[in-house]
Amino acid sequence: MTQETNPETIENSGAPCAVSNSAKSSTGRSENNPYANALMQFDRAVAHLDLKRGVVDMLRCPKRELTVNFPVMLDTGQIQMFRGYRVHHSVVRGPTKGGIRYSSDVTLDEVRALAMWMTWKCALMNLPYGGAKGGVVVNPKQLSNRELERLTRRYATEISVLMGPESDIPAPDVGTNPQVMAWIMDTYSMHRGFSVPAVVTGKPVEIGGSLGRTEATGRGVGFCIIEALRMRGISPGDATVAIQGFGNVGSVAARMVHEMGMRVIAISCSTGGLYRSDGIDPLKVTRHLEHGGCMTTFEGADSISNEELLTLDCDVLIAAAVENQITSFNADRVKAKILAEGANGPTTPEADDILKEKGTFVIPDVLCNAGGVTVSYLEWVQDLQSFFWPVDEINRKLQYLMAKAFESVSETVQQYMVSSREAAQILAIQRISDAILIRGIYP
Ligand code: NAD
Repeated sequence: MTQETNPETIENSGAPCAVSNSAKSSTGRSENNPYANALMQFDRAVAHLDLKRGVVDMLRCPKRELTVNFPVMLDTGQIQMFRGYRVHHSVVRGPTKGGIRYSSDVTLDEVRALAMWMTWKCALMNLPYGGAKGGVVVNPKQLSNRELERLTRRYATEISVLMGPESDIPAPDVGTNPQVMAWIMDTYSMHRGFSVPAVVTGKPVEIGGSLGRTEATGRGVGFCIIEALRMRGISPGDATVAIQGFGNVGSVAARMVHEMGMRVIAISCSTGGLYRSDGIDPLKVTRHLEHGGCMTTFEGADSISNEELLTLDCDVLIAAAVENQITSFNADRVKAKILAEGANGPTTPEADDILKEKGTFVIPDVLCNAGGVTVSYLEWVQDLQSFFWPVDEINRKLQYLMAKAFESVSETVQQYMVSSREAAQILAIQRISDAILIRGIYP
């Protein structure tokens, strides 16, 4: 058994994998700091494994971190400075893989946490990747399309020292989309002098994207929910679902569960949500939003706050927005029988303890939303071989890999008598530790 460490001890020791002081609360442990939460989850999983101390230390720290400050010319002719990050957590099992987030709330600690979770996710899914994440501190809605393109091309150039089809392959995340990936692919290709589609995934299909990629994360969430309902003995036709976040992941997951016969009783975005006890058709909401409407102007449902949505009486709660939504402040009021973590890090370790007590079936993020990186991997493979598969084949491969991972996590829960989050991380961390020792420590 490895001695349990805690993030505060590491920080006091001056080790490089410290949590930023700026992101800590005055009360000590910062439940809202995703990196502190990721480290705490890691320590909990590692406590069940017999790992070498040095391997544990290695996996606690990001491999490398890049911060870039760069100028962008606005449409007015003004020059504005922006800050961006790219963090590689681990390169042990292959090149790094992870999305790029555009949000005014992005911090280095958030990007570190997301990179670490990507490492566990890739290892859990047995993909030949390590974890990475990137972010730019920007509200993309406040920029014009031309400004967003210039920002993206400049950020891509700034991180091009790390990026490449054999070294680091970005993908979309909150605030970015296939168009942003197309600009990154084009910028990188211009610098190389030839097209390099495999440098990013989540691209439009016209330039080497994969069929099924846009829906992959939501499809994977839907698949995990079906398995969890089966284990809980609930028929999909009887299940009610509430969904926080109606972006790429949340809207596709909503459509999937609706198509599978479940009743979507609530959905929300950052500005608020909708509730209707006899069900909302997610497609109608999507169409309403596409025609310039906002969530609150949709007719035929009552409005509901995000906080209320999280504590609704329902069978399944899909958290598909951002981190730290279920915390020690509201976890005891969560009534859902199943929590499907479409988002990364929506539940803090303190909330995990409360949900465990209550018997909530948690489908952890590294499993639940792994459909996205799995089809990103299939996209990368197709780009490298310049040979593309039909969508049926992609979906079949996705379902096979998700089913295998779901089963492995369930078996590990039984073997170690741990939560599903700990089980998923135990599996991933053991695989990475094995890879480290087989490769050996250079030189
Ligand atoms: P997105 O930008 O497309 O959508 C995010 C949604 O969440 C929007 O509806 C937004 O209004 C809402 N939101 C943001 N802050 C909120 C808040 N505080 N309360 C309620 N709603 C809020 O992003 P996405 O790609 O759907 O990603 C959502 C989550 O899923 C993130 O945690 C992301 O890291 C994770 N994820 C995404 C993918 C992917 O393929 N896109 C893959 C794996 C994990």
